[in-house]
Amino acid sequence: MSLVVVGSMAFDALETPFGKTDKIVGGAATYISLSASYFVEPVNVVSVVGGDFDQDHIQLMHQRNISTEGVQVKENEKSFFWSGRYFNDMNSRETLVTELNVLGDFDPIIPESYQGCEYLMLGNLAPQVQRTVIERLNKRPKLVVMDTMNFWMDIALDALKETIALVDVLSINDEEARQLSGEYSLVKAAKVIMAMGPKFLIIKKGEHGALLFNEDKVFFAPALPLEEVFDPTGAGDTFAGGFIGYIASTGDISFNNMKRAVIYGSALASFCVEKFGTERLKNLTQEEIDARVQQFVNLVQFDTVLQ
Ligand code: AMP
Repeated sequence: MSLVVVGSMAFDALETPFGKTDKIVGGAATYISLSASYFVEPVNVVSVVGGDFDQDHIQLMHQRNISTEGVQVKENEKSFFWSGRYFNDMNSRETLVTELNVLGDFDPIIPESYQGCEYLMLGNLAPQVQRTVIERLNKRPKLVVMDTMNFWMDIALDALKETIALVDVLSINDEEARQLSGEYSLVKAAKVIMAMGPKFLIIKKGEHGALLFNEDKVFFAPALPLEEVFDPTGAGDTFAGGFIGYIASTGDISFNNMKRAVIYGSALASFCVEKFGTERLKNLTQEEIDARVQQFVNLVQFDTVLQ
């Protein structure tokens, strides 16, 4: 059940209708690894940071049995920086700043101890780098899941399509699915995207849940209706971490098990948005996770008698 996670480790500056943060720790690999750590250990991270990165955060990762052996530290350079502002609906946001810094020329190194992993989660990162990681693994993992974003569709579409062709599951949001496929209908978009290579496609719809597609099957998972959404940053990555973590812990890559994994991913994401940054993901308990998953079950369970 060994898991390797690749993605950005970052400083984020966020603005939501509830407030503003200075630079706080974020990044795709940060959220994914924290989330997955509730299901599997160790979680093996491949990333790069500058000498300015927060050491306390690295310590926290170690406490949660997340290995940073594959995280390169470029002492004299700056960590990746991203800044975003959320609109009042908290479902849409605009990117204010993307400073690639150390990510600009990132050459991923896979430690020997990570080789032979069964599960690979390619978090948001330059598609060429995601592809390099697949190529540098000696053995193809049992399941490769990939996340990406519109940023890479805008500046590296060809490379993105080449990487997408190599993965089993692609996870993107609704706007990105429309941009990538050129189709407005998400059902049509799913067909176009699955024809690019991935057998499974997850389309995230923020507070409106997520869809899982495979061949002509589709499954819908709601998002938990929450009284307060504080900060949606990292919700997609946290979802991905819960999804791959649950699959890795069960060892089952069937469509039926992926349905459960989508619910676990959604449950972890519902915690993430309750506080700024990674705050809420630092010390969840198994009881809290179980209770949250039960809320999802209750949300969609109903009896009926067909006439
Ligand atoms: P999410 O809200 O799940 O889409 O993820 C937000 C996280 O993605 C933030 O913590 C950012 O640091 C990170 N991020 C934003 N843009 C990029 C990018 N172009 N490449 C890698 N990571 C990014």
